[in-house]
Amino acid sequence: MTFRVGRALVITEGDFGDCDLCGAHDELRPYGPNGENICFDCGMAQMEVTKAKFAELVGDATVALVDLGVVEGAGHDDIN
Ligand SMILES: [Zn+2]
Repeated sequence: MTFRVGRALVITEGDFGDCDLCGAHDELRPYGPNGENICFDCGMAQMEVTKAKFAELVGDATVALVDLGVVEGAGHDDIN
């Protein structure tokens, strides 16, 4: 999820759902041409729109807070 709190841009792990453009179940971000929630692949396929939508969200933010949470699968299970 990407949103503003005052002058801070907050980027966290996104909400999962079905992409508004292709229907794939994935982590979604609001970077569609009309603000649709779209998947990574659709975002990459329309890079200029994605950049513009991200720039709209950044606006005049002076701080970016990134919290991507715990990496799934990380841990000590793989150590011997
Ligand atoms: Zn998609």
